[in-house]
Amino acid sequence: MSPSVRIGISPDSGFPLENLPYGAFVRDTGEAPRLGVALGEAIVDVQELARAGLFDETLDGARAVLSAANVNPLLARGVPAWKAVRARLAQLLRAGNDELQRAGIADSAFVFQRDVAMALPLAVGDYVDFYSSLEHATNLGRIMRPDGEPLLPNWRWLPIGYHGRAGTVVPSGTPIVRPCGQTKAPTAKEPTYGPTRMLDFELELAFVTGDGPPLGTRIPAEHARECIFGVALLNDWSARDIQGWEYQPLGPFLAKSFASSLGSWIVPLEALEPYRVEGPRQEPPAMSHLAASDRQNYDIGLEATLTSARMREDGIAPLTITRTNFRDMYWSMAQQLAHATSNGARVRAGDLFGSGTISGRDSGSYGSLIELTWRGAHPLTLPDGTQRAFLEDGDELTLHGVAASAGKPRISLGSVRGIVLPS
Ligand code: MN
Repeated sequence: MSPSVRIGISPDSGFPLENLPYGAFVRDTGEAPRLGVALGEAIVDVQELARAGLFDETLDGARAVLSAANVNPLLARGVPAWKAVRARLAQLLRAGNDELQRAGIADSAFVFQRDVAMALPLAVGDYVDFYSSLEHATNLGRIMRPDGEPLLPNWRWLPIGYHGRAGTVVPSGTPIVRPCGQTKAPTAKEPTYGPTRMLDFELELAFVTGDGPPLGTRIPAEHARECIFGVALLNDWSARDIQGWEYQPLGPFLAKSFASSLGSWIVPLEALEPYRVEGPRQEPPAMSHLAASDRQNYDIGLEATLTSARMREDGIAPLTITRTNFRDMYWSMAQQLAHATSNGARVRAGDLFGSGTISGRDSGSYGSLIELTWRGAHPLTLPDGTQRAFLEDGDELTLHGVAASAGKPRISLGSVRGIVLPS
């Protein structure tokens, strides 16, 4: 029997052979993380496969690249290597293939996801966060500047973004300590320093790149997908009161840099190919360096769930607080990457680009609490009877993502989770 048959892949798992997302797992406490791909409820130990020589024909230096503690060395090898390794993995794991058995690793090459801890799937290089949902930008504009035009004049001409802090991108499950900072109430004369009272989440997807062309060269939107390895869930935790005081004139700083949680699995762009769709019509039309003729958006269902400490104690199931989709993002990943390099800036293997909060048109599809509760004007009521304008200590926020459609393989992005600890 082949391993993929023995471990059993439920079609509902979201981790069929068509997905094979990359992650880094810790086999034994104290050991370095290892590269793995999710398959059903299991993780395939890619290092084990590489050491058995099963990739020697696929990739020069395969043992070193695939025995790394993260996906970075593979990222640096570029598209031909990404395609070759993925194709070889699918071949090795296909039902009926007995190469793992012949190599004597049919058992040792697998662990159950539930038995291991996950690390960051990549060492994050530069980290950028965009602001590319029309609905989110419009909502935030209405909330932050009620008397002005919700969208600033530049928004429809270029994907707005800022450089974030790569060193505080943390793996799913890392507890989030409520940050302190300066805040100032509109009526107060002076700011005060203390724990944020407006801790929020942002439901986002991030993409991971390989090496781009040399400094001084642009990546045209038309070719940007060739530089994108895959996507992962991202929660861009945000302190709205700190943000409101600090953000002008240079944008977000400490309101964001205390932590951003990255999902455990990087889903290759190739796995999402069946879900590539046309994005919304852009008005004005994108300038030529940002224009791409082909379908550039992806139909990926997303949701966020919340539990309070009390709900967990009482065994109450998580409350789904929003359901949205990545397909309607105004600026595509290709346009974001084209814009980020339109001045000749270089992109390196391991760079991470967040989409910005993904909000839909109706109020049940907003990707942050500041929008869902309209800055606290309409608090959520949790099943434990308490209300939420923003996150409280003990709250656990989880993002989920899955691309699914009749007749197509179900492609899960897994989840990204974080629990709020007191200051
Ligand atoms: Mn963000």
